[in-house]
Amino acid sequence: MFDLKDLYQEVIIDHNRSPRNFGKLEDADHTLEGYNPLCGDRLTLYLKIKDDLISGISFDGSGCAISVASASLMTEAMKGKTIEEGTLIFNAFHELVTVDSQDIDFDKLGKLAAIAGVREYPARVKCATLCWHTLHSLLTDDTTSVSTE
Ligand code: ZN
Repeated sequence: MFDLKDLYQEVIIDHNRSPRNFGKLEDADHTLEGYNPLCGDRLTLYLKIKDDLISGISFDGSGCAISVASASLMTEAMKGKTIEEGTLIFNAFHELVTVDSQDIDFDKLGKLAAIAGVREYPARVKCATLCWHTLHSLLTDDTTSVSTE
């Protein structure tokens, strides 16, 4: 039988082992570090915005499997999107990991739904959302450093 949980675990393991868009973006025009003191995740996000479009996005740093896989999936989802589309994805993702009762819209979220499993482990939610909060701060021009505390 087709088991979603196994599939999603595979997605996270894959993105942790070989993160997409990992490494400094040399021509980034926005850079911000996010830190999750609960787990020790420290990830820096690089962003290049051109004509309201997220034309470049990458990250580096170190963190646990959940934080790295989430950042990897996020950069994949955001690349080439407009800021408005990016904000919609952010909102959908944020609801997904924080609102327990919501049914997960797998069609809308695709692979990002893999991260939804962290809802069952409240301590890990901050790992999953770290890079997202960093991105949100960058997109809303709040460029003080990000901490999940
Ligand atoms: Zn973590």
